[in-house]
Amino acid sequence: EEVDPELRQLVEDVILNKHPQAAELLLQAAEKYKSDKSAEKQVIHQEDWRGLTLQQRITHALVKGIDTHIVEDAAEARLQLGRPLDVIEGPLMEGMKVVGKLFGEGKMFLPQVVKSARVMKKAVAYLEPYMEEEKRANNSLQKQGTFVIATVKGDVHDIGKNIVAVVLACNGYKVVDLGVMTSIQKITKAIEEHQADMVGLSGLITPSLDEMIFNLQEFERSGMKIPVLIGGATTSRVHTAVKLDPHYSGSVAHVGDASLVVEMCSKLVSPNTREAFSLELKKSNLDIRESYLKSQLEQEVLTLPEARKKKFQCDWQNVEISSPQHTGVMELPIQIQEVAEFIDWSPFFWAWELKGTFPKILESEKYGDEATKLFRDAQVMLKKIIREKRLKPRVLVATFAASSKEDEVLVYDQNQQLVETLRFDRQTRKKVANNDIYYCLADFVAPTEVKRKDHIGFFVVTAGPEIEEMAHEFEADHDDYNSILVKAVGDRLAEALAEYSHKWMRANFGIFEALTREDLIAEKYRGIRPAPGYPACPDHSEKLKIWKLLDVENKTGVRLTENFAMTPPSSVSGYYFMHPQAKYFAI
Ligand code: SAH
Repeated sequence: EEVDPELRQLVEDVILNKHPQAAELLLQAAEKYKSDKSAEKQVIHQEDWRGLTLQQRITHALVKGIDTHIVEDAAEARLQLGRPLDVIEGPLMEGMKVVGKLFGEGKMFLPQVVKSARVMKKAVAYLEPYMEEEKRANNSLQKQGTFVIATVKGDVHDIGKNIVAVVLACNGYKVVDLGVMTSIQKITKAIEEHQADMVGLSGLITPSLDEMIFNLQEFERSGMKIPVLIGGATTSRVHTAVKLDPHYSGSVAHVGDASLVVEMCSKLVSPNTREAFSLELKKSNLDIRESYLKSQLEQEVLTLPEARKKKFQCDWQNVEISSPQHTGVMELPIQIQEVAEFIDWSPFFWAWELKGTFPKILESEKYGDEATKLFRDAQVMLKKIIREKRLKPRVLVATFAASSKEDEVLVYDQNQQLVETLRFDRQTRKKVANNDIYYCLADFVAPTEVKRKDHIGFFVVTAGPEIEEMAHEFEADHDDYNSILVKAVGDRLAEALAEYSHKWMRANFGIFEALTREDLIAEKYRGIRPAPGYPACPDHSEKLKIWKLLDVENKTGVRLTENFAMTPPSSVSGYYFMHPQAKYFAI
């Protein structure tokens, strides 16, 4: 839309081969462009928007996420308006309103909004020293209300939370971001101190779901009344309604993704809507709760002994059981550039709420342009990481002799001594069982009585603590965009390390395959690498056993929080099961 219509016509005629003279006409026009404008003028042409009015320039910079002139424009606005505060409340907020509107209408996507926020932050950072009292600058952004946001205790994941914080700030909320691993004491203190109008709790791992229950009980005990918003990968409307809402008399709202948070907040705080909306919310939570309880009562659930009788069976005497060439705990040397080719990029786009799969998403009609820019930025970041050699990725793998006993896997050392007993859950619900088989991961290891030599494997990989360091450096430079970007790339590298280590381990078991990158992503190999805390083995605390067996903390620097989240966050751990019929399932 921004190309000069006359020129666009000429170009389209060539591309679409509309008539025989098309090329000739375009060449003629090219001559004209060349003679009309000197090289210098052409540069100006690109920057035509610099000739717009001050407000238009500021809005343009915010909408397009261009930070090259924002300080200059903010300075001009300050001279015009006198008070730096008026610059924030006036032209800057005006521009952000346009961003908020376009995002609300689905005409801008998250990566763009985060870039807009970066421009805003740079302008505010410039103005702050001129502010008589810094406090008032913060208050000026408080038009819509104050929002305290935190990742709960024991959890370290904050990409989604940071995106929500940026989106709210863009829409005129004052956001107090308490970071990760936030105790309830810290949250309640911040709510009081900042007289917050709302609080948002975020978490990724399943223990955070229980942590949130505890937080709500504490909010209730302290007599708090403000709305609580819930978000994060494992949270859901049903969890919010069933597990959280009953503990709190105020509003408890689940926010499915960042694009929904602004509308939710405005309904919750605006004096016109808040009463009716909070009643509506309580009612809908109650409805969800009732229908959930009803569905639970209707569900057929087997007792554990019944489910065990219907476990996954195979011909244990004849089934192929591979043995590893190397056993014990092993650190694999790895260079970051070797890992990059194992990256599955699709989840990278999902982190930015661009829905689709890679590489098709780059061509998507809706997201293609933004996805392409975002991907390019990710490549630049990846190159920077590789060039600066700053990351020290770690890959720790292990294999141990093992046998199974009901739902347990017994792990032995080289002297056949029992060193650990892993406890796995088994499916008991008819709804999740497939073909009347009630799976448990232990079923994929040869039972003790079969007397065949079998193994289990483990892995812990991390992109390293440097990812968080880099993110903090970007934050200090008011650059949320690159801060979120480096974390998202770090998570991709961690998953890629898991893919790499898995391939190494299959070879170690004599399983060689000719699989492309796409085949790997589609998991077309033999065996699985389930991760503790995920659907087939939901108990996060089992990680403690892996940490002990492999001496993980000393060897990789990866630590478990009190709720068994891995920190640094760009880390993955799990088991290897090599059984030919091993598959993922959900408890
Ligand atoms: N290519 C993807 C892989 C991550 S999702 C990426 O780069 O992000 C798949 C991973 O999640 C698996 O490798 C496994 O470690 C874990 N996983 C998936 N389904 C699971 C299940 N049902 N139980 C346990 N772990 C599971």
